[in-house]
Amino acid sequence: ILARGRDVCKQNGLLILSVLSVIVGCLLGFFLRTRRLSQQEISYFQFPGELLMRMLKMMILPLVISSLMSGLASLDPKTSSRLGILTVAYYLWTTFMAVVVGIFMVSVIHPGSAAQKETAEQSGKPVMSSADALLDLIRNMFPANLVEATFKQYRTKTTPVVKSPKVAPEEAPPRRILIYGVQEENGSRVQNFALDLTPPPEIIYKSEPGTSDGMNVLGIVFFSATMGIMLGRMGDSGAPLVSFCQCLNESVMKIVAVAVWYFPFGIVFLIAGKILEMDDPRAVGKKLGFYSITVVCGLVLHGLFILPLLYFLITKKNPIVFIRGILQALLIALATSSSSATLPITFKCLLENNHIDRRIARFVLPVGATINMDGTALYEAVAAIFIAQVNNYELDFGQIITISITATAASIGAAGIPQAGLVTMVIVLTSVGLPTDDITLIIAVDWALDRFRTMINVLGDALAAGIMAHICRKDFARDTGTEKLLPRET
Ligand code: ASP
Repeated sequence: ILARGRDVCKQNGLLILSVLSVIVGCLLGFFLRTRRLSQQEISYFQFPGELLMRMLKMMILPLVISSLMSGLASLDPKTSSRLGILTVAYYLWTTFMAVVVGIFMVSVIHPGSAAQKETAEQSGKPVMSSADALLDLIRNMFPANLVEATFKQYRTKTTPVVKSPKVAPEEAPPRRILIYGVQEENGSRVQNFALDLTPPPEIIYKSEPGTSDGMNVLGIVFFSATMGIMLGRMGDSGAPLVSFCQCLNESVMKIVAVAVWYFPFGIVFLIAGKILEMDDPRAVGKKLGFYSITVVCGLVLHGLFILPLLYFLITKKNPIVFIRGILQALLIALATSSSSATLPITFKCLLENNHIDRRIARFVLPVGATINMDGTALYEAVAAIFIAQVNNYELDFGQIITISITATAASIGAAGIPQAGLVTMVIVLTSVGLPTDDITLIIAVDWALDRFRTMINVLGDALAAGIMAHICRKDFARDTGTEKLLPRET
């Protein structure tokens, strides 16, 4: 038994360390909360976790570019277009299924009845319209400047403009000042008041294209995929660039193989640091408890039952074995809340543990980390309907359909970074006329739910790679393409 235990530890050492680091991080975080550390001490404490995030983010750009270019270039045009169409169709379908699961859960549990609305009146903050958000999504696909796309993305900026009312002087109502008071007059109380008839200044919102910080992953994915397809068509003349990308990809994966040994240490501080920062869990209480349970139940149903079932039905293989292979990536997703930052580890797990053809992983994973976010879509649908329930707002069937479509679109537009889903939620809320300010209702628990939905986002991408590898296995057996250019690849 001892020998067997030693073998298991040897084979799964990193995984065991990662699981332990999550547990130690939670315990340490809750213990240190009782010590009441200052903000400064907390930020020093978070440093090892910050390093982990920086290492992962450092690898995103070379990994996405090299994997898409070399992945698509090494396939013949017929195989790459078949893989592309199948992958995007699968992603859209599973995201829509996630939304349906979310709508089902929130309608059954009805967490909005437990929540009392405590928010103040609408502050009338300007919000981005759904049309602007859609245009931003398309703008991001075509970055005007590729260098800028590595650190900025398009985001429409909405600014308030105060306009004085245009009223002809003769039509202008008399200016009155509001007086309200109670007076004693000859022993009786008289109430005086007058209305202020001065027309209030009109506030209009002006939208203009702008940029915000953060990598435009969608633009980079789109450009690299197009380049990859074109390189594939160029044949021998494109081979030098293809083999450069293959080398780049391989070397990044070698960096990942070394960096992973630091990750368990970083995870401890990442998780404990977040626990130190969070609001008092008791304050969240019943109000958001049911809402959080609804989101988590939906994620569990979708991620642990529906997607694995789909994987089993299509591939006839055991989904538990597959999921065990990507456990480490799921833990990194839990610790970082970012599917883009998890990408290098998802690659490593799929290639080394699940033996997925690298040409498939190179296409399916980066595209998935950008557009396929089942967890985010599910959460957006639940959150929108929860806000409607809190406001006693009856949604009709048409509005439910609108929510399902916009939640799918909003998840495609969300970047694979922490809490990006909260930003794109505005699209879903405005599409059915719900108060966007009520996003503040769910902020307190969003950082925690984000971690779980990111796990499901990563799981969805990985299972998609497994399914595509099965569906396209004959094409890939036939198509060795330019892959033979690089003898060093194993
Ligand atoms: N954090 C999520 C991800 O990276 C996106 C979100 O739902 O906020 O996949």
